[in-house]
Amino acid sequence: MSVAAIVPAAGRGERLGPGQPKALRELGGVPMLVHAVRALSRARLIDLVVVAAPPDGVAEVKALLDLHDVGAEVAVVAGGAERQESVACALAALPPDVETVLVHDAARPLAPSELVDAVATAVLAGNRAVVPGLPVSDTVKRVGVGQGAIEPVIETLPRGELRMIQTPQGFDRALLTEAHAAADHVATDDAGLVERLGQPVVVVPGSTEAFKITRPIDLVLAEAVLSDRRANGAL
Ligand code: C5P
Repeated sequence: MSVAAIVPAAGRGERLGPGQPKALRELGGVPMLVHAVRALSRARLIDLVVVAAPPDGVAEVKALLDLHDVGAEVAVVAGGAERQESVACALAALPPDVETVLVHDAARPLAPSELVDAVATAVLAGNRAVVPGLPVSDTVKRVGVGQGAIEPVIETLPRGELRMIQTPQGFDRALLTEAHAAADHVATDDAGLVERLGQPVVVVPGSTEAFKITRPIDLVLAEAVLSDRRANGAL
């Protein structure tokens, strides 16, 4: 019985601007993917990491992970056109003894290992689908289709009931496999597919350092977090 982590890393990252696939861009001189894999391999409960690379970049990603010491048993498979497909490809490549799976975006390179272990612990305690979440600080409104950049507000959502959901998300392997097999739409996260099955999903406290690198300003924040860690001797 072992615990595996899947890392979808096949996205282009177009919102970050032109350049390499997002997972291969550097933070503190180290590719984002390497940071993400290290965070997983340093976690106490993770036995194996499977990375879904861009289909034309499998050899490059393997070489990169060999070059940097990621300290874990790591396999690399070809991902797909959508994040969901990339996760499904990695899921299909897991060895039979894996019963618990965490899915973690390469685009969240600074997620602490403690968060990884907290999610895995919650799954091992019997919660079959676990997501880390943080309270929302902005007010969130639903909008309709407008003209140009001006959109009509339809409603304001009750902020106290909302959570920003991060990764790693943790699952009982059989449930996640069933959710992917039954997927009839493209969900923005894996837990969304489990919800579609009508199965419960629980939220555990997330981490402010598990933010997703999407836009150029996120890189600035990530570099600041890394220099703070360096200054505190945490690297
Ligand atoms: O685009 P977004 O930021 O939502 O991507 C989240 C994660 O999914 C990233 O780590 C990205 O590399 C991955 N992804 C993938 N395959 C795709 C698209 C995105 O593995 N086709």
